[in-house]
Amino acid sequence: MAASVKLVGFCFICKAIYDKENQKVSTFGVNKTNLESWQQKVGGITVGDRLCEKHFAPHDVIKGSFVLDYFCPYKRWRLAENAIPQYFLSKFTACFSF
Ligand SMILES: [Zn+2]
Repeated sequence: MAASVKLVGFCFICKAIYDKENQKVSTFGVNKTNLESWQQKVGGITVGDRLCEKHFAPHDVIKGSFVLDYFCPYKRWRLAENAIPQYFLSKFTACFSF
């Protein structure tokens, strides 16, 4: 493992997520609100597990808000209400290509 690669989190599907080439990867936790709908997509997931942004549609990942026409980025990205994971849901179609 190269020293320049930094562990940034764990994803239930991808497992360890590393910060590669300064590429920001956000993870979103499972809570009681989204548990049921997420479980239908990702079997075995439970409260406290996390999924990275790659499993969500780009418009479901809220990176900031517009205030009087100015874009104010959030420090921590948020997930839209009712967002459900829909991409790369199989371990065999991993987020990373080897
Ligand atoms: Zn992932």
